[in-house]
Amino acid sequence: MKVMKFGGTSVGKPERMHGVAQLITRGDEPTIVVLSALSGTTNFLVSISNGLAGNDRSDAKQKIDQLEAHYQQFINDLLQTDTARQKARTQLAEHFEFLNIILKISFSEALNKDILAQGELMSTKLFSVYLEEAGVEHVLLPALEFMQIDAHEEPQIGSIKVKLSQLLHANQGKKLFITQGYICRNSKGEVDNLKRGGSDYSASLVAAAINASVCEIWTDIDGMHNNDPRVVDKTVPIEQLSFDEAAELAYFGAKILHPASIWPAQHFNIPVKLLNTMDPEAKGTVIQQQAGSVGIKAVAAKDGIVAIKIKSSRMLLAYGFLRKIFEVFEKYRTSIDMITTSEVAVSLTIDSQENLAEILKELEAFGSVEIDENQTIVSIVGNEIAQTPEVMKKLFNAINNIPVRMVSYGGSKHNVSLLIPAAYKVETLQLLNKGVFGL
Ligand code: ASP
Ligand code: MG
Repeated sequence: MKVMKFGGTSVGKPERMHGVAQLITRGDEPTIVVLSALSGTTNFLVSISNGLAGNDRSDAKQKIDQLEAHYQQFINDLLQTDTARQKARTQLAEHFEFLNIILKISFSEALNKDILAQGELMSTKLFSVYLEEAGVEHVLLPALEFMQIDAHEEPQIGSIKVKLSQLLHANQGKKLFITQGYICRNSKGEVDNLKRGGSDYSASLVAAAINASVCEIWTDIDGMHNNDPRVVDKTVPIEQLSFDEAAELAYFGAKILHPASIWPAQHFNIPVKLLNTMDPEAKGTVIQQQAGSVGIKAVAAKDGIVAIKIKSSRMLLAYGFLRKIFEVFEKYRTSIDMITTSEVAVSLTIDSQENLAEILKELEAFGSVEIDENQTIVSIVGNEIAQTPEVMKKLFNAINNIPVRMVSYGGSKHNVSLLIPAAYKVETLQLLNKGVFGL
């Protein structure tokens, strides 16, 4: 079996949904199709939810009506027959009734999750009605019956596996299954989700649970590119990446794949393909165990980084100093991305300002603390790059004039990270594109 996941833009217009139907019916292999909400819907649901949380009910009501009008139009353009249109309207009415009911009850976090789940529930229903109208046999698998997270919000792969195989077993002989990305149940049995962009994660968990031959992530770009196309003129798709390389890239800024979606595929050794709905024949990117070639494959940048330097003569010849510092970050559930040390100072970076004031206050107990905000991590990713001297030379030659604040080298074979002031990001990515990739 294989898994095919389609993101919001791939289902966001009726004609794109028609295209998805063609793609999923091309081969013979039994397939589970994972769908996101129509593009824009989840953002809309977030703003409805915010309206309710802030007690702006008239704004929320207006948005619900606006969303409903959008879906009415979508139904008319997606479907041809009156029967199918009527069916879709009846099915979606349920969701808009729900949204209108919650306008009258008091807001809670559980309700927020219920609101956010409506997007994927609606996109899969619409798609199912469309497939039915087109005469494509399929089964709608409710993700809320198998996708499960525990009290720490970690997916429970064991139970996902059991529940999903029961559902598939009950539908023996069927070849095409449609399910929702993003949504799940939590340890209390409530509706929950895998965080924004989480449909990729759903797909990879489903692929792991059924031991799929491949997990295809279909988007609107032909794979992961060597550099950020929004910033540099010419970028090229990367043909092959190892799971480790892809994880670095996804985490450090390549927006195409949700970073958490790497581990299930890696752990169960399922190749992930990044493919383009607008150009289905393009090779895209394959992510698997083997890296393929040696050398730099891509650069990615992550903004909004804060660098913190803790300087203390007490660090000299002391042990346990780093532990004490790390404990402060642990206490505030803030993860550290980069770290470098000298004998009397340690510099590290975080990507969240959420508890910055509290963290800084506690760090002051250990020495003098300085911070630099508005920093960017530029991550250079490839195979065995840190051991290959020519690669390093090329890299630093290319960015000769950029004021580099920190370098992280040797943490893994696949990655060198540089911390630079955000104002130099565009120039750095452009220089690397020229100097390293010759583009
Ligand atoms: N619809 C959800 C979101 O917009 C999940 C996803 O698309 O991956 O975040
Ligand atoms: Mg996405």
